[in-house]
Amino acid sequence: MNAELRDLYQEIIIDHNNNPRNFRAMADASIQVEADNPLCGDSYRLYLKLAQGRIVDISFQGSGCAISKASLSMLGERLRGASRVQALALFEAVHALLTGETQGDSSALLGELEALAGVRHYPMRVKCASLGWHALKQGLAASAREIGDRV
Ligand code: ZN
Repeated sequence: MNAELRDLYQEIIIDHNNNPRNFRAMADASIQVEADNPLCGDSYRLYLKLAQGRIVDISFQGSGCAISKASLSMLGERLRGASRVQALALFEAVHALLTGETQGDSSALLGELEALAGVRHYPMRVKCASLGWHALKQGLAASAREIGDRV
């Protein structure tokens, strides 16, 4: 990774950490998921509002390190309006990015999320970056059990 790209990635993470998108509680959420990473002290709650198989609203609250917060901020920005299938596809792409198992070129799908790639050499930070995404997957699975085919 060249220095220019690294600086850009760092800027994206700092921006999302300082100005997290969708950082609020949601009173009428369909699903709420706790996302905790005690090793780092990251502790969030992810809110999902689902209708007709889509994420119509998404938000989060809590506190933690810059990586975890930036990751959740980008997650929400990318997934508002997404279908369950699109959300799970993005989860898989991010998971592959963070574990270094990327197959083919998923840059187009990942976009800004590629800024998280730098953590893959630091197992502790991989947990921070993936925290919100595991909560998302858990939330979608829980909603499927609860609401069945309508979501
Ligand atoms: Zn963290």
